[in-house]
Amino acid sequence: MQKSGKQESVLKGINASAGICIGKAYVMDRSGVDVVARYPIAEKSIKNEVKRFKSAVQNAKAALRTIIENSPREVQRATILETQMALLNDKMFYGRTIETIEKERVNAEWALKSVADRIKTAFQEMPDVYMRERVADIGHVADLVMRNLTGVETQDIAQIDKRVILVAHDLSPADTSQINLERVKGFITDLGGKTSHTGIIAQTLEIPAVVGLEIATQTIQNDDVIIVDGTEGSVVVHPSETTLLEYEERQANYERYKAVITRESHLKTQTTDRRSFDVLANIEFPEEVVSAINYGAAGIGLYRTEFQYLGRTVFPSENELYENYRDVVEVMAPRPVIFRTLDINGDKAIHSAASHDEQNPALGLRAIRYCLKRPEVFRTQLRAILRAAAFGNVRLMFPLISAFFEIQLAKSFLDDAAASLAKDGLPHQRDIPVGIMIEVPAAVIIADLLAKEVDFFSIGTNDLIQYGLAIDRGNKQVAHMYQPLDPAVIRMIKHTADVARANRIPVHMCGEMAGRPLHAPLLLGLGLNELSMNPQAIPLVKRMIRSISLAESKKVVKTVLGLRTAREVFEVLRDAFGELVASHRRDMRA
Ligand code: PEP
Ligand code: MG
Repeated sequence: MQKSGKQESVLKGINASAGICIGKAYVMDRSGVDVVARYPIAEKSIKNEVKRFKSAVQNAKAALRTIIENSPREVQRATILETQMALLNDKMFYGRTIETIEKERVNAEWALKSVADRIKTAFQEMPDVYMRERVADIGHVADLVMRNLTGVETQDIAQIDKRVILVAHDLSPADTSQINLERVKGFITDLGGKTSHTGIIAQTLEIPAVVGLEIATQTIQNDDVIIVDGTEGSVVVHPSETTLLEYEERQANYERYKAVITRESHLKTQTTDRRSFDVLANIEFPEEVVSAINYGAAGIGLYRTEFQYLGRTVFPSENELYENYRDVVEVMAPRPVIFRTLDINGDKAIHSAASHDEQNPALGLRAIRYCLKRPEVFRTQLRAILRAAAFGNVRLMFPLISAFFEIQLAKSFLDDAAASLAKDGLPHQRDIPVGIMIEVPAAVIIADLLAKEVDFFSIGTNDLIQYGLAIDRGNKQVAHMYQPLDPAVIRMIKHTADVARANRIPVHMCGEMAGRPLHAPLLLGLGLNELSMNPQAIPLVKRMIRSISLAESKKVVKTVLGLRTAREVFEVLRDAFGELVASHRRDMRA
């Protein structure tokens, strides 16, 4: 029971940004305009109604521009707000609203709402979670224009002058960017999902946030004491004295953990016997570069470029891609950025790409196979990458190579792209390292042939396990057999690494397997040169590498190669390095 006599309760949501804060709630009024009336517009007034809509969009853009200009640099770099700005110009949104006003002869508010609802419904039905969550972005942009149309005033986040925790039904990335960090300790919202852009801005600002709580604004009142645990994704309302003490300690631990990361992120990743390894970050959208740098990534080891294509009726233009890529490259420079060319279909089904249903999408027209069949799509992306390469340290890799001709053909596309850029007089850089992902057993088997054609290999264990062990990576029924430590997987990695060494090319790993600290000694001992992982996994893996020697890693590999099951391999690694991993976790309280 809290001093006030109110009962402690816990709300569960989604951890959008790590950290803990304790403070008084500041409940925001529900913003947005829920009820929109439809009324007819006379023929002669249609032009005016369209004008009214256009000027509301102009005002929304001006407001967004001011927010961008007043945001911290890190937020500006994250380009989320620029993306929302682009959405305001999007044909699907802007053009269709005008069309609706003109064709249906209705008021701008109604037209805007019905167009936004239609787009949201289309997105909601998409199989990809990331795309479903883009519904929120459309809602935020539509809201911004709607407020300008209706003149509804909303609470100004920038004006909050007390030390509080924001409690809101929803916050747009633009709202979040205006948070005054000296005042607002963190925020929680009813809406929002795992990959919501609002959460990414919170991570960039390094404030704790929990989203998707559903009933936060109904449950919490102004000035209620609350605890936000952005790491766990929970909120304690009216905490008891004991809970408060417990969280104060956790908060101190988290602050210590952050201090360690900051201190260690700049240290060289070197084993005790002085062998250097690079630990890089996997990213899915450009705004994640900030978090990659904060966690100490030596570069981007895998940029999954497909997310910019998902769920669009029209694929991004060369210029749109180029602007995005250039941002990432410039922010990371001189660190490397490895662009993986488009990997769509299979587990990342895409609406406009799938011209017909496939019985077995994972074995179908995906990744490099898709690109080679859609030269215009491939060429557009290659040109954008080569143009961005003029601004930093760029490498390129092709996914899902399974046959020799694919690499030769892909490289000829690259040459053509460079030649066409030269003809167009556009600055670019052709002379970049070109690699392939090794994620199909066929590529492992012909690694010696492929090695002669490329500058590096990057092992994608997520798919290599799927195809190598014949285990669908998304199927829960067989998830128990999806084992990175299976001897078959280890032998495929070893063969690939041996071939790379014999051909004097580096070999990286960018599958999930690379992000587990217990795997690091095995991977180093097998001969991998770079590991790439989720940014959050970097600090512990780096620490692990700094605590072991290459000599002992090689010794453990010798033992592991004689084992028969994933369980046996795990036990050997656990006995040799388990205590080290546990003590790092304790030290870093991760
Ligand atoms: C992999 O397959 O290991 C990989 C990194 O690619 P993705 O997870 O994007 O398929
Ligand atoms: Mg893959």
